[in-house]
Amino acid sequence: MEKFYKEVLMNGIKDMVFILKVVNDDFRFQFINTAAMERLNLSKRIVGSSIMDIEPKEKAKFLYNQYSKVVEIQNSYTYEDVYEENGKKYYAETVLSPFFDEKGTVDQIIAVVRDITHERNTFTNAMEMLNELAESNERYHSLFFHNTDGIFILDKMGFISDGNEASEHITGYEIRELFGKSLKEIIDKEDTGNFDNLINEAVKGTNQSGNLLFNNKNGEQVNIIFKIIPLFIDEKIIGLYGILKDVTEQIQSINKLEESEKSFRIIAENAHDLITLINKDGEITYVSPSYKNILGYYQQEYLNKSFLHNVHTDDQERFLEIVQNSISSGEPFTIQFRQKNAEGHMIWCESIGNPVFNHNNNFQHLVVLTRDITLRREYEAKLKYFAYHDSLTNLPNRLFFKEQFALAKEQFLTSNTPLALILLDIDYFKLINDTYGHDTGDAVIKEFGSRIKSTIRDHDMVARLGGDEFVILLSNIQSSNNAIEIAERINDTIQLPWKLNGHTLTVTTSMGIATAPSQLIFTESSLMKKADIALYEAKKSGKNCYKLYNDNCPTPSSYTNKKTKL
Ligand code: GH3
Ligand code: MG
Repeated sequence: MEKFYKEVLMNGIKDMVFILKVVNDDFRFQFINTAAMERLNLSKRIVGSSIMDIEPKEKAKFLYNQYSKVVEIQNSYTYEDVYEENGKKYYAETVLSPFFDEKGTVDQIIAVVRDITHERNTFTNAMEMLNELAESNERYHSLFFHNTDGIFILDKMGFISDGNEASEHITGYEIRELFGKSLKEIIDKEDTGNFDNLINEAVKGTNQSGNLLFNNKNGEQVNIIFKIIPLFIDEKIIGLYGILKDVTEQIQSINKLEESEKSFRIIAENAHDLITLINKDGEITYVSPSYKNILGYYQQEYLNKSFLHNVHTDDQERFLEIVQNSISSGEPFTIQFRQKNAEGHMIWCESIGNPVFNHNNNFQHLVVLTRDITLRREYEAKLKYFAYHDSLTNLPNRLFFKEQFALAKEQFLTSNTPLALILLDIDYFKLINDTYGHDTGDAVIKEFGSRIKSTIRDHDMVARLGGDEFVILLSNIQSSNNAIEIAERINDTIQLPWKLNGHTLTVTTSMGIATAPSQLIFTESSLMKKADIALYEAKKSGKNCYKLYNDNCPTPSSYTNKKTKL
């Protein structure tokens, strides 16, 4: 194992490595690797010698001080020095690390010397270059330092000698971390070839630009528009400007847009609903294939036509207004309207529309989702019918009667035309049920309803309130006499023979009539109560008759004990 480490130290490391043994107050070479031997022209024979033996006095003294410091602070220590070889200056950074014996005293020192000549040179070159430029043009300073684009100053090989603040923002590196490094090191592997091409062309004297992917210090990819401009001094290219514009966000939003358009297409092509795009001129620019299934039209038949071209003429104005409001408010809209299908039938549709605006808030298009709601409307109409009608007789029920009464009352208050209620209750109905059975009882209720309906005018209403009880609302009558006439007509029609389920029956009814007091305030329940009192009177006086409620009549004492049917 030790051999392995030695081999790595000896030949595997390009930095110069020395190990020195601390002997009393001196430092003696114990190990020196191949890189150091080659670089400094030394041989293994120096092993065992002290620094003082092999280095010139000045240099030896300097080194002695550095090594002594490590013994003193018992910790690693880094220093830089310059040395000359063959008339050339070299810069080195040396890291000295202590190695302790069992007693905890520094026994050996490991020195690793890194050549930083290239970094140093590019740095000094850049400084010289900048100074020259700064002198020649003060404006350059602010152009360089305050530019929002990242600017690197590169040598002709693409090595970084300076950069402005924006370049630090874009790459995430501080400039001192990048000095002397090739810009290529922070370019995504895929783009290094492109980078080389740009540099090769730029050093010939022409500006170059391209899109390159950079990897910032956090390892994230940054999309850069990279411009490279030759840097001339005295008509000689001495380096290059590398200008970086971060376009990551723009590219991401373009990708998002492409993605969203793609997903829109997928949804639209497979949707069951109709999907329509309408442009700012109100023309249809896209319809989904579902148009064929739902309306029977091919996509092309709708394209470039007004979005109203197939809408029922009665719905067009409302549709246009809703769309205009939606675009000006930016809010989505919902509308129910009719449009013609390919067979020429008007079908009910419901559309939900969303206006889409660009980043400048300009309206782009309307995305409209439309559904055939013919069945839903039929179903809703049926539900409404059930809610307002009695299922046995198909006559209006109590709810319908109440709403109708409210309308009639409004009319009464504005035009003061009399209004009356006739409350009807079949006589001895329990007996009919008991004698002929519930089914025949039902048949009587149905027949009773249809007979009284046939006696009233179209605009009057008969409603079944429940059980064997019905009410007639007479609006717009001349006087209470009209109500009496109707009551008599009802009596006549009820007296006609009843043949139901093979039985011949006798059916009679009692009726209570109440008319709205012309000057007094009344409600549905107050008028109903009066009709109920009159009905009670009719029942009390032997049934098969009608009674008219009279305001002067006090409520019969026996009525107050009776549980009201309302
Ligand atoms: P009166 O002469 O005082 O009106 O008495 P009546 O026997 O007609 O009894 P009343 O009006 O108080 O009660 C009506 C009865 O109708 C009560 C109930 O058993 C019956 N009934 C209620 N709803 C129905 C229905 O839908 N079908 C049938 N067959 N009977 C019903
Ligand atoms: Mg009854």
